[in-house]
Amino acid sequence: MKSRLLNAWASVRNGPLRGGESVISLESTGVPRSVDIDGPFEAGPHDYVMRVTLNGIGLTMAEDEILVADGLLRRFFVFRGASPDTVLLEIHSEFETGASVSVAEGMPCVIRIALPRDPLFSLMSGRRIAVDPGHGGKDRGVRGPVNLLEKDCNLEVARELAAIMASCGTVALLTREDDSYLEPGARLKEVARSSPEMAVEIHMAGEKDPLGRSYHIRAKPGCPLSRALAASISEALKENMGTAFGPIEELPGETYPGFPVVRVEPLCLTYFADEANFRAPLYRRRIAQGIMNGIVRYVRSVVEGVRPPHK
Ligand SMILES: [Zn+2]
Repeated sequence: MKSRLLNAWASVRNGPLRGGESVISLESTGVPRSVDIDGPFEAGPHDYVMRVTLNGIGLTMAEDEILVADGLLRRFFVFRGASPDTVLLEIHSEFETGASVSVAEGMPCVIRIALPRDPLFSLMSGRRIAVDPGHGGKDRGVRGPVNLLEKDCNLEVARELAAIMASCGTVALLTREDDSYLEPGARLKEVARSSPEMAVEIHMAGEKDPLGRSYHIRAKPGCPLSRALAASISEALKENMGTAFGPIEELPGETYPGFPVVRVEPLCLTYFADEANFRAPLYRRRIAQGIMNGIVRYVRSVVEGVRPPHK
C-alpha cells in the first residue's frame, strides 16, 4: 500500500539547542523513500523559504496553508507534488535557518522537520523589555459583557508575553505580577531603574455601543522609535490575529521615560465575541505571540540597524 500523508501541524520544542526548535510534524501511514530540502532562499523582508520534497508519499489531507507565527516559523504550505507519490512543503521562516529531518516509524509514522530557534534566541537574549499590564486593584478598567475585567485580561496577556520572552532569553520587567494597584504616572518609574530598552503597555479597548469594535495602538508623543515599534506590533498582530488597528495614535501627554513606549489594545473587551474568544488559552497566547513578533522585527530592523532584505 502506498504511504499517505494524513495530517500536519507545528509546535515549539524546548532544548537541547538554545531557544529550542520549531517543529513541523507530519503524520503518514508509512515512511517516505527520501526527504529532500532545498534552501533557505530569501523571499522578502524577514521571509526565508525552504522547499521540502517527500518522496514515496501521497497526499490524503487537503492542500493547505498553515499559519504558525511562532516567532521563527511564519507559515507553511502543503502541496501535492508533480507525481502522485510526492508531497511538497513550502516553509516560510523569519530568520535564515536550516532544518533537520527525523522519522519515527509506527502507525502513524511521524516525520519531523525541526528548525533551530537559535537566531531568534541570539537576537533577543539578554535584552530587557518592560511590560506594563494596565490597571490593577481598585482600578478595573473596561468590563466585558460577561464580566471579564480589563485589569485581569491585561495581566494574563502580560504573563503569556513574559513566558514567550523568557523562552527567547529576554528579561521581561513586569510593572505588576498580581492584582496590585499602581498610582497613575508611577507605573513605569520602578522598571525604568532597570534600564529597559522599551516598554509595552497592555490594555484592552472598550466601546459604549456593545456592538462597536475598536482596536488601538498608541506611541509616546514625539518619539520616532516608539512609532516604529507601534507600527511593527500593529503589523504582526494583523498577521497573527487579523486585528484591524487604525492609524497609530499618541499616548496622553504625561511624562514618559527616555526609552520607547507603546500602548497596545489588541482586543475590544466590550464586544461579546472578543470577550468569548479571550477565554481560550490559545487565543491569549496568539495575542502575546503577535506582540512579541512585532517587538522582534522592530529590534531587527531598527535597533540592530538591519535593513529588511530585498529580493
Ligand atoms: Zn485600559
